[in-house]
Amino acid sequence: MRIRFLISFLLISLAASSQAPDREYFRSPVDIPILLSGSFGELRSNHFHSGIDIKTQGKTGLPVYAAAAGEVSRIYISPSGFGLALYLDHPNGKTTVYGHLLSFREDIQAYARKIQYEQESFAVDLPVPKGTFWFEKGEQIGLSGNSGSSGGPHLHFEIRNTESQNPLNPLRFQFPVIDKMSPKILSAAIYPLSDDAHVAGATSERLLETVYYDGAYHLKGNPTLSVYGDIGFGLQALDYLDGSWSKCGIYEIKLAVDGEPVYTFLMNELSFAETRFLNSHIDYNHYRQHHRRLQKSWVDPGNRLNNYPLLVNRGVVSLSDGQMHQISYEINDVYGNTSTLSFRVQSKKLALSPKEKPGRLIRHDQKEAFETANLQASFMPGTFYADFKLDYDTKPANNLYYSPLYQLHNDRTPVHNAYLLKLKADGVPEGLKSKSLIAVIDDKSGKKWSMGGDYENGWVMARVRQLGTFAISVDTIPPTVQPLSIANKNQLTEQNRIRFKIDDDFSGIDTFRGEIDGQWVLFEYDAKSKLIAYHFDRERFQFGKNHSLKLIVTDNKGNETNYQASFYR
Ligand SMILES: [Zn+2]
Repeated sequence: MRIRFLISFLLISLAASSQAPDREYFRSPVDIPILLSGSFGELRSNHFHSGIDIKTQGKTGLPVYAAAAGEVSRIYISPSGFGLALYLDHPNGKTTVYGHLLSFREDIQAYARKIQYEQESFAVDLPVPKGTFWFEKGEQIGLSGNSGSSGGPHLHFEIRNTESQNPLNPLRFQFPVIDKMSPKILSAAIYPLSDDAHVAGATSERLLETVYYDGAYHLKGNPTLSVYGDIGFGLQALDYLDGSWSKCGIYEIKLAVDGEPVYTFLMNELSFAETRFLNSHIDYNHYRQHHRRLQKSWVDPGNRLNNYPLLVNRGVVSLSDGQMHQISYEINDVYGNTSTLSFRVQSKKLALSPKEKPGRLIRHDQKEAFETANLQASFMPGTFYADFKLDYDTKPANNLYYSPLYQLHNDRTPVHNAYLLKLKADGVPEGLKSKSLIAVIDDKSGKKWSMGGDYENGWVMARVRQLGTFAISVDTIPPTVQPLSIANKNQLTEQNRIRFKIDDDFSGIDTFRGEIDGQWVLFEYDAKSKLIAYHFDRERFQFGKNHSLKLIVTDNKGNETNYQASFYR
């Protein structure tokens, strides 16, 4: 009897530990129902989302609570990214992160402000010594906000492994989230990967619409497609949770061929060092053209993402045997809701002329240099995910640029690590050399963006993280400074604060420095709204007299705007 009890106890413990450990350790960081506007591992620009985004009823200023007892280990304040963020370390070896906050608890706010004044910097990233700020589970740590690179009021919440700083999927812990909805499969795709491969009579990929009936997804019209050679599959899928229209990411994707598993993608844990491999995980070419993210079910040779617990031949399926094959997808969310998509393909060899692509072969795992008389690009191993043929062309200089336009392949091939790009600067007048930079030009719109860079020994060089059309340009225009709280440089129009809108047309804002009566003062900066704001600080500001104000803003090419005013307050 006793042994039976022990065995069943052990079995229950085992079952519990195969779930996430400490499932009930954390409470919700908010006391409103948890509705998500973003999920863990969701596909974002150049990264997988590292936490969950909790909706805050469209407003800022809701109390945010410590999800478990713990102490503050890091305070992060930035005009972009997580904005105002707190990191709490817990005795169970986990760290929770609370991002885009409006404010911290008062003592933390004062601690951070003191260091901001010491460092004379709004942006700080502070490791906090042990024993400085302890929180009990459920104690308020601050207020929810919309700070940093946030697209609307919400709380970004993460659970990390403290040791590795790897974020874990928070939904594997016990939060009161309701999800009875199955993922949606929006479309599928079949890709010919080897030189002899083809799909439906063509040597390019084939996109397929899906329809839902009889409890499963099917290809529209139920076609049996002819395929041959090494084939890759892909799909576009989304997940929804109850009570929210927000599109969330997919937790698990499984692909099987004739019932044999060949590929699994799983979002239990992420590594920040690997998150940019997203650009290899998705069909980047398709994304750049259509802004839809198809997830590939094969892994490029240079993709080091560790979210594929099962892979047979990198997920590449050889279909050259003349037989009919059954392709089956199973898509799961964390709460066990499942969707499936199945279809058949017929292996059939066709006499198609092999696709010969022009251009210089670039191998992804070797050091490669592409050089002409006027352009040099050096690619270290790991810059690309797969070998490709680099396409190159030039267009003559026009009056917008100080060099010809160099078309270095296209922006639809992803670049993992920045590479050194050098453009010959013969056309740059002497007086503009220090203002020169490399611009990337959008082929469709003709719009340009600064890639930064410096003039050196007859070349302009920059480390860039994309391919595309490049040319030398200059930035000679200083940032704009628009006072929002001061009229005629001498009259305050707002009672509690001084605000400016600061902007730069090309190379971007580099630094700003606000001084009152010759002393540095804290202007809080929100990059998305381009606003900086100083709040009259009773501890540091002397009321009841005339004051002088100075604001200096510089851009990345050293152009400077100096604004001065005087006011009584
Ligand atoms: Zn987020």
